[in-house]
Amino acid sequence: MDNLDNINIRIHSYESAGTVDGPGIRFVVFMQGCPLRCKYCHNPDTWELNSGKVVSAKNLFDEILKYTSFMKFSKGGVTFSGGEPLVQKKALLPLLKELKKEGVHIAIDTAGTTNIDDTTLEIIDTMDLAMLDVKHIVPYEYKLLTGLSNDMNISFLEALASKNKRTWVRWVVVPNINDTKEYAQKFASLIKKYPNVELVEILPYHKNGIYKWEALNIPYQLKDTPEPTKDNIKELAEILENQGVKTLYSS
Ligand code: SF4
Repeated sequence: MDNLDNINIRIHSYESAGTVDGPGIRFVVFMQGCPLRCKYCHNPDTWELNSGKVVSAKNLFDEILKYTSFMKFSKGGVTFSGGEPLVQKKALLPLLKELKKEGVHIAIDTAGTTNIDDTTLEIIDTMDLAMLDVKHIVPYEYKLLTGLSNDMNISFLEALASKNKRTWVRWVVVPNINDTKEYAQKFASLIKKYPNVELVEILPYHKNGIYKWEALNIPYQLKDTPEPTKDNIKELAEILENQGVKTLYSS
């Protein structure tokens, strides 16, 4: 435990009672640093690793443990989100191990943008639930949307499957980018190959984070992209469900 005092983690912020980042009521840690540049990102203020604030892993551990009764009562836990939490995977792993010893349910909300090394594999072993963003399944489109190749995303999905890790896949539906019925069919066919994927969470693209782009003076390219309607989302969900893929979305 002592070693957590000597580990620094850069975080953007945390939320003690999150309800949208995994099952139950969750303590959500938004970590600093992300190698992707998703056009729809609602947290561009997490991109730079050397920003945010530094906390010791021990302080974060103590803070999280204050909420264990809420977590247990609601079958919740802690979710590490971001940014891309695996940017700081070496600092994160010892904290996850200590939380695991305390019986805290651990979810990692990630785009899998990291190489598969021993630390990554240990993190996969330690977490209870992976929440993996699959931003686009066509490599060229993934790169246009995020700035990077989807190789690491696919390798991470494979690594989760090889360990039979409970996984929720997250699909942010963006009109004109990944919202057609044909895309949904292909998405379902891909996901069906992975029996460890329990469900696909379908999230409508939204513009709530635009003010952050403006504050950071970064041009926002999706200004003219509409938000999908509830009916659009329902229709896509039904395509997945018809192929036997369970979905989660807000109706
Ligand atoms: S992975 Fe998440 S934090 Fe990183 S750019 Fe994409 S949406 Fe933003």
